[in-house]
Amino acid sequence: MISVRRARLAPSAFVAIALLCAVRQAADGQPQGTAATKPAAASCQRSAFRVVVDVGHTVDVPGAMSARGVAEYAFNLALAQQAQQTLIEAGFANTVLLTTDKPPPQGLIERATRANAMAADLFIAIHHDSVPDNLLQNWDYQGQPNRYNDDYPGYALFISNDNADRAGSLAFGRLLGLALQARGLHYTPHYTLPLMGHRRRELLDAEAGVYRYDQLIVLRLTRMPAVLLEAGSIVNRDEELALGTPERRAITSAAIAAAVEDFCQARARPVGGSVVRRVAPPPRVPATR
Ligand SMILES: [Zn+2]
Repeated sequence: MISVRRARLAPSAFVAIALLCAVRQAADGQPQGTAATKPAAASCQRSAFRVVVDVGHTVDVPGAMSARGVAEYAFNLALAQQAQQTLIEAGFANTVLLTTDKPPPQGLIERATRANAMAADLFIAIHHDSVPDNLLQNWDYQGQPNRYNDDYPGYALFISNDNADRAGSLAFGRLLGLALQARGLHYTPHYTLPLMGHRRRELLDAEAGVYRYDQLIVLRLTRMPAVLLEAGSIVNRDEELALGTPERRAITSAAIAAAVEDFCQARARPVGGSVVRRVAPPPRVPATR
């Protein structure tokens, strides 16, 4: 689960369409409707492409609580470790697992600082989702009181418009969402619903399930494309069981690896003699949440 302070709900359809066009262009490596001027000469250098897999939350501040009383951090760590292993096996030998002991916000700032210091090419934050407290219901599991919500299963992806490479973040988010869907998973649309209140989010890519969440520190202070993945809802009683299995972790990890491969390839491909890489100005506002 990720907390918020304020929501921005404003985008016009025009802006959304423009964003999608930007995604397609970045993902394809060619402007839409433009013939390739030369064959792709560069290719993805997997061993040099550094992916940071960020384990959301900490042992002491472990995030959401699942329907059966397991802390989110345990889910995050298990999936992040599997994703790192899958990426390494796919040739991304420099993949780094990022954890911290510091509570937020210091720990969040530290995550971004460390990723920037190692000049990572891509930052993926691993989380598991919950719902606002007012949407949770009570039940007993093994004699213990717990809380659940069975209404909103599915993954969700978030990017920040304040990230230094917003176009890259959105392009990778799209690739990851489509890769998850190709493996039978679906995103949850509930972040667009009025009942989410101040946690309501703008859906930037309605096909892939990528939402806008500008204020997330790990997304806005990182200097490389950055995406936060909510891998599924651990307060959903059925999905919690699935998320706890090696099979589900393998599916999600395979999707991550496939999306990283596609993104690395798109970044390596020259377009009109230049590499597809867009760098936006640094964040304008101080890190507060
Ligand atoms: Zn979380």
